[in-house]
Amino acid sequence: MAHGPAAPRHVVVVGAGIAGLSTAWFLQDHGVEVTVLERSAVAAGASWGNAGWITPGLAIPLAEPSVLRHGLTALTDPAAPLHIPASPDPGLWSFLLRFAVRCTMPTWRRTMAALVPVNRQALAAYDVLDASLPEDVRSRARPIMAAFTEPEHAEGLLHEFELVRAAGQQLDAHDIDAAALHALAPTLSARVRRAVRIDGQRTVDPGRYVAALARVVRDRGGDVRVGAEVRRLRHGPGGIAVDVLGGTPVCADAVVLASGAWLPELARGYGVRVPLRAGRGYSFALDQPEGERVEVPVYFPHQRVVASPLGDRLRLGGTMEFRPPDAPLQPARIDAIVAAARPLFQGLDLDRRREEWVGSRPVTVDGLPLVGPVRAPGVWVHGGHGMWGMCHGPATARLLADRIVSGVAAPELAAFDPLR
Ligand SMILES: Cc1cc2nc3c(=O)[nH]c(=O)nc-3n(C[C@H](O)[C@H](O)[C@H](O)COP(=O)(O)OP(=O)(O)OC[C@H]3O[C@@H](n4cnc5c(N)ncnc54)[C@H](O)[C@@H]3O)c2cc1C
Repeated sequence: MAHGPAAPRHVVVVGAGIAGLSTAWFLQDHGVEVTVLERSAVAAGASWGNAGWITPGLAIPLAEPSVLRHGLTALTDPAAPLHIPASPDPGLWSFLLRFAVRCTMPTWRRTMAALVPVNRQALAAYDVLDASLPEDVRSRARPIMAAFTEPEHAEGLLHEFELVRAAGQQLDAHDIDAAALHALAPTLSARVRRAVRIDGQRTVDPGRYVAALARVVRDRGGDVRVGAEVRRLRHGPGGIAVDVLGGTPVCADAVVLASGAWLPELARGYGVRVPLRAGRGYSFALDQPEGERVEVPVYFPHQRVVASPLGDRLRLGGTMEFRPPDAPLQPARIDAIVAAARPLFQGLDLDRRREEWVGSRPVTVDGLPLVGPVRAPGVWVHGGHGMWGMCHGPATARLLADRIVSGVAAPELAAFDPLR
């Protein structure tokens, strides 16, 4: 990729999650010097305890007609997988109403059409990153299993898959014998009676992956600073000065804001008006009994729970809770996942949990990420990937880095314009 006349030599990236670090990595690939400023620690946000599914076949818009039904349940059932606080602030009401209006099939199709090109590039972007990482950290090809206690519940998912294929997304999914699923996941209970196998997907251990990415960015000469909270940017004749709480400003030719669910704090002042809210998800890990390990990632669409094997641990996760990103972990949300998971497993001690975690998905009201330039010269945004930042983050980082360096807009990013 040829460098354009305004290609920056030094870029500051704000946020050390998958979005920020993969942007830094791809900028370095173009010979750009990078400084990553992270207020807390590497992978301190949503990029740590998520499910780690790199699954372009499943990365589809959140807003669809059945979500409205779940939304109504959420208002009355405190254990529902979608959780809305009893007294939402006015901004959250407005966000939810605008989100609800988009829960139609025509909007789903439009949103899906914008996501398909990124889905197509997701695994290739991982191939490039993986080549720089130790073998045991790299993304790993694995089938994903969708599992059902009531066999007829699978029909909804299979119908959704038809829509995904009609949108141009390749998806290799077929029914398998429930016994075949139990062979790969021996601690699933006999209540799980139907399974759909989805091939061509991958997984990572997200916290390890992002930490390894940070090490590689450093090894390639990048500066990754933790405990560096960015407060504001100041534009001057020599470039952009990035003010860091309690530290000396860092000067750069360009800045990429990749601060996850906190993005509006810095981006709003640059004309980014697309509402973005923290859609908080929870997870925890369980020890897997020797010789009886779940070897495949399992998705329970009806219960809205996912299970991801991470070696000797099994991570269970779920929930979409609309609270501020810095609100404390709510134990009731963990209890709700445990209650939903209990009938699905046998021989797993759901009361001996480790690594209880909450993370904030950066959810935009229109289900599309924010990737591109904003109102001030040299300021870029990379975030808002919602449910699918692990899957899409490296692909959009690669496109954004090309754009920053070459000055040429990529058609795949047009729908993700942060100023839309
Ligand atoms: C339970 C759960 C399961 C999920 N499963 C999957 C999955 O299987 N596949 C998938 O693709 N996605 C999944 N996701 C979504 C995915 O985790 C997110 O989309 C993704 O991690 C977002 O990455 P990010 O880099 O944009 O944000 P983050 O990882 O949140 O990183 C933002 C960083 O910016 C830092 N920061 C904020 N403000 C400042 C500041 N002012 N100065 C400096 N630093 C700052 C934060 O400390 C944080 O480290 C899941 C999410 C959850 C919660």
